[in-house]
Formats: sequence, structure tokens, C-alpha cells
Amino acid sequence: MTTDPNATLPESLLADLVESAPDALLVVDAQGRIAFANRMAEQLFGYEASELCGSPIERLIPERIRTLHVEHRARFLAQPRTREMGATAIDLVAVRRDGNEFPVEIRLSPLGSGARRFVAAAVRDVTDRRHMVRVLHAAQAEAERANVAKTRFLATASHDLRQPLQTLQLLNAALRRRVSDAEARELLAREREAVDAMTGLLNSLLDVSRLEAANIQPRIEEFGVEGLFEALRNEFGAIAEARSLEFSVTAVVARGLRTDRTLLRQLLENLVGNAIKYTEAGSVRLACRADGDGLMMTVTDTGIGIPASRLDRIFDEYYQIGQSGHYGVGLGLAIVKRIAALLDLGVAVQSEPGRGTEFRISIPPALVTQAAKPEPASAPASAAAAAGAVILLVEDDAAVRGATELYLRAIGHTPIATASRAEAESVLAAGGRRPDLIISDYHLGGGETGVDAIVSVRKQMGRTLPALLLSGDTSTALRQHADLPACRILSKPVDVEQLSSAIAGSLS
Ligand code: ADP
Repeated sequence: MTTDPNATLPESLLADLVESAPDALLVVDAQGRIAFANRMAEQLFGYEASELCGSPIERLIPERIRTLHVEHRARFLAQPRTREMGATAIDLVAVRRDGNEFPVEIRLSPLGSGARRFVAAAVRDVTDRRHMVRVLHAAQAEAERANVAKTRFLATASHDLRQPLQTLQLLNAALRRRVSDAEARELLAREREAVDAMTGLLNSLLDVSRLEAANIQPRIEEFGVEGLFEALRNEFGAIAEARSLEFSVTAVVARGLRTDRTLLRQLLENLVGNAIKYTEAGSVRLACRADGDGLMMTVTDTGIGIPASRLDRIFDEYYQIGQSGHYGVGLGLAIVKRIAALLDLGVAVQSEPGRGTEFRISIPPALVTQAAKPEPASAPASAAAAAGAVILLVEDDAAVRGATELYLRAIGHTPIATASRAEAESVLAAGGRRPDLIISDYHLGGGETGVDAIVSVRKQMGRTLPALLLSGDTSTALRQHADLPACRILSKPVDVEQLSSAIAGSLS
């Protein structure tokens, strides 16, 4: 091969090159007559070069678009420049000698000048490519259809599975309050563990699928780190204590955050939950400190640790190191990874087998605000203090309604159980005891929601009755609907302790 830029190719070589080109090459004169056709053009169109030369180029174009082509040709000659045809929106078609049409892409280049003006056309048969594109489009449409089906399945699963789980939890809690026999209490405690584990698994599966479906839009709000940590302290304090672990929660900075509180909380819940799960003795610490202009949150435990060789795998879906005796499906850290990506947070892990693990979440300065917004008051009041309240319950599922009623009675309240907004309204209209609180399910059937029920009951009573909205609906729609004053949202299946403390908080 020569590297001399001045070297010219012998003419015979140039002719060979044109003849062996992978595209059909045609040269057309200013009158639209074919002046040259290479071997590929012969093969593609089914004519001898000698038959093509001298004939109008329109011979190779289906009859119905010939007139149009003459106009295009005239326009091109008026303003000749190299350009692609058919690569974009317009579908170009050519016709073979046997009358069969086929899709083509054409590249046009002007040749010569003045009286000896020509147009060179490189023509490529794109039948296979078009076919491929069609197959790909069909595959994509099929994948989208499957995705929609999956989302629908998840929505159904989330509702239909959460309802019986909720019933089981409430019945178990009501029974625990009634039974005094030690052996029976032990059995109920074991049953509760199993129900809690099932709830946890269901939640992880639904969370990861939801995050996978990428239909989560972070809902950005401003809140204080301390309030968030307080909520986690309340959530995990008793669990850590039950495992005789020291549990500390420290936010040394009084800063605020601007991000999705629910998702960040979910991320931290997974890390703290794991830390407690994988620590037999010692401590679990959740802390937050300044890190430049950003923040660093750490979850540190003195647990079994993670071998260095596994550290890069633990964030994968369904990956577990395989310690026996732990419930889990290996999705907790996959959820952490996805939420971190969604909220623009950094995640790092350091671990020493036998000594413990530290997960670090770095929060960039853009998400940090100087002054923490005051948290909406949480509910430290004890359930006992608020006992004896009249609670209007709106729940369309008979089993959940019955179990909730039993549980509310078991913790000392007087429930008024109704199945719909209309029933709640007519019970109120009939007089009797006025409720101190309304608890409503979100999906009430017939297209009605708990928000509708709360709004209309409040209107009927002429006051902002405190409300709790329960929902197994994990969609963002719920979050959008729930900007009601004095209304807390609890996600189903609601933990019974959480429910009784939310009731107490709403009544205080
Ligand atoms: P799992 O449901 O098994 O807890 P995760 O995705 O949350 O799934 O975690 C993946 C694996 O990483 C776990 O199976 C466990 O072996 C390991 N792991 C996670 N957190 C810790 C921790 N704090 N200490 C020790 N091992 C951990």
C-alpha cells in the first residue's frame, strides 16, 4: 500500500473499484438518462448494463411515483449537492425488472459541470434492514406490553396481598392482648415474626420492582435531618433492644435536606435493618456529620462483616452471602443502590469480617440547606393515654375491617366500622357518638378514595377531624392526593405498634 499522497491510482484499478463496489452505482445525465451502471446495479435491478445505459432513470422507479421523481430530479439539478435520500423520514422504493418493488437508500453526488453535468447515485437495498427495524419495533412493543402487564400485576399484588397480611397482623395483635397463657403467647409471638418477615419480603419485592419500572418521581421537600433520625430511632429502637444491641442515633449537624424524604428514609431503613440483622452483639450506630459543604450519613455496626471479595456483589439484585437463619431475599441493598442513584447520593461500604461494617451515604451540597425546617410534630404520646376514643373506620375489605375493629377494641377504643364513604355519612347523620378520629383505607372501591371519605366526613361534621389514611397503594398518585391537613398516611400492612402510636399522636 502506498503512502505517497501524490500517487494516483491506475485507471483500470479505479474501474475495478467501481465495478466491485458493494452498492449499485448509477450515473445519470442532466436529462435523466442513465450513462453508467456498475455490476451491482445489474444484479440489483435485473438488467444488463447495456440495457440500462441510455434509458431514463425513472425506469427503475415504480410507475406511480415517476412524475414526482422527475420533479425531484429537476430540483436537485437546480441546486446540486451531496445528500442522503431515504435515510430519514421518506420511504424510497425502487422497482426491479420483474416488477418487484424494494426499499432503498440513495446517496446522490453531483459530478462534472456545465453541459457535462451528471449525478452519481449509490443505491442500497435496505429490505433486510427495514425488516430488522420492524422486528425490533415489534419486540419493543411486546416488551412495553409486558412491562405494563407487570406493573398491573404488581399493583394488584400489592393491594391483594397486603390486605390479608394486614388482617393477619391485626388479628395477631388483638389475640396477643387477650391471651394470658404463656405457651399460647409464645406461639403468637412466633406467628407474628413470620407475618413480619412475610411483610418485609413482600415490601422489598414490590419496592425493587417499582424502582425498576422507573416510574418513581422523587418528591422533593425540605426537612431536617434530626426529625428524620428521630423517626428512625423510634422505628428501630425497640427492635435493637429486643436483640440486646446498643442503638445510637446522632445528628451532629442541625442542617436541612432538600430531597425525597420517604425514599431517603427507605434507604436508611434498609441499611439500619441490615445492620441490626447481621449483628449478634455490640452496637448499631446511625450518624450524620458535615462533609465539606455536604453531609455524610453513616450506618455502622459491630456485626459479622462482609468479606472483601463480596463487597462489589452485595448491591446486586437477589445477591446474598448466605448466612443462614436470616430472612431476606437479597434486595435490600439493591433498593439502596437504586434510591441513591435516583436521589443523586453516593454510597460506599467498608467492612472487616468479624468486626463490623460501615455504610456511608454522601449527600452533595446541592441537597443540603442551612436551616432545618421544623418537623411536623411526631407522635410520642402513649397509646394508653389516648385510649377510649371513638374512631370512625372506613374500610371496604370486610376481613380487614373486622380485624381492625377487633384490634381497636383490644387497645381500648370504640370503633364505628363502615364500608364506604356513604355508609360513614349515614352513620354520622343518624346521630350517636361523634368520632374523635377517622381511619380510612385509601382504595374504597367504586373509584372512591379515603381522601374523598375524609373530606366529606369533615364537611359533614364542620371540623377538621384528625385522620389516618391507610394504603397498600405504592403509586405516586397516593402521595399527590394526600396533602390534607391533619392527616397522616400509613402504608399497609401497617405495623400494629405504628398504628397505635399514630392513633395516639393524632388524638393528642
Ligand atoms: P438480604 O435480604 O439478604 O439482607 P441485602 O441486599 O440487604 O439482602 O444484602 C445483601 C447481602 O449483603 C446480605 O445477604 C448480607 O450477606 C450482606 N450484608 C448486608 N448488610 C450487611 C451488614 N451490615 N453486615 C454484614 N453483612 C451484610
